[in-house]
Amino acid sequence: MTRFRNRTAIVTGAGQGIGAATAALLAEQGARVAVVDLRTDRAEAVAREIRDAGGVAAAFGCDVTDEAAVTETTGRVVEEFGGLDILVNNAGITRDNLLFKMGRDDWDSVLATNLTSVYLCCRAAQKYMVEARYGRIVSLSSRSALGARGQANYAAAKAGIQGLTATLAIELGPFGINVNAVAPGYIATAMTAATALRVGSTVEDHQERAAQATPLRRVGQPREVASVIAFLASDEASYVSGQTLYVNGGAR
Ligand code: NDP
Repeated sequence: MTRFRNRTAIVTGAGQGIGAATAALLAEQGARVAVVDLRTDRAEAVAREIRDAGGVAAAFGCDVTDEAAVTETTGRVVEEFGGLDILVNNAGITRDNLLFKMGRDDWDSVLATNLTSVYLCCRAAQKYMVEARYGRIVSLSSRSALGARGQANYAAAKAGIQGLTATLAIELGPFGINVNAVAPGYIATAMTAATALRVGSTVEDHQERAAQATPLRRVGQPREVASVIAFLASDEASYVSGQTLYVNGGAR
């Protein structure tokens, strides 16, 4: 497929879940993909799978909360692939707790990983995108941005992404850079499985309850988010910018 022919993409947190599905889909559709993850071994496994399937991918171990590491990794990707067209800010964590039990470390780490990292990666990427007068940035917000019990840190970070997205669309638009976000509902990944176990449920029961609260009566799959990210990263979405698109099975 030629949708992303001659395009280079960075996908952060691509060692598993939505990020891995996005990396695989962009590669299937012709992009050269930098698979970035905290864990180099996981990034390597995803990149190898993409290459085995005939795609172009390389693994980069990088902590997206580390400013120097983000700058260096972005530079290495540009050097290796000869440019940077697409940035998918996907890396994220949860550290849920009710406010009165939420320690400062859980607040700080969630804000750093889910929000500050997006600022760092966008700032590093825009340098190359502005020069090329072309870019597509897609960041992972969440339905939780609208409010979610036990997720004051995560909801604040994911709502912050929506404000950052709207603002960067204004600042970077004149340079041919589109900036959008997707806000998934419940997607079956290691993140939601860990939440299930933490609240004393089985993964199956937790998913079933989420499905019953969703108009489509099922939870989402990583590939269903990846396909929306791919649309926003493509030239089919060339006049869409500053938007947050909810991918949540119709939940309000
Ligand atoms: P996963 O936990 O399955 O994957 C997240 C990936 O990000 C992991 O590989 C993780 O590595 C990596 N990561 C974490 N911290 C860093 C860091 N500092 N630097 C680089 N990589 C890091 O999550 P999902 O696939 O479920 O979620 C992906 C994104 O989608 C997240 O931003 C999440 O908040 C968002 N989202 C997910 C929803 C869901 O229902 N699953 C719903 C709404 C939004 P490691 O495992 O080594 O920590």
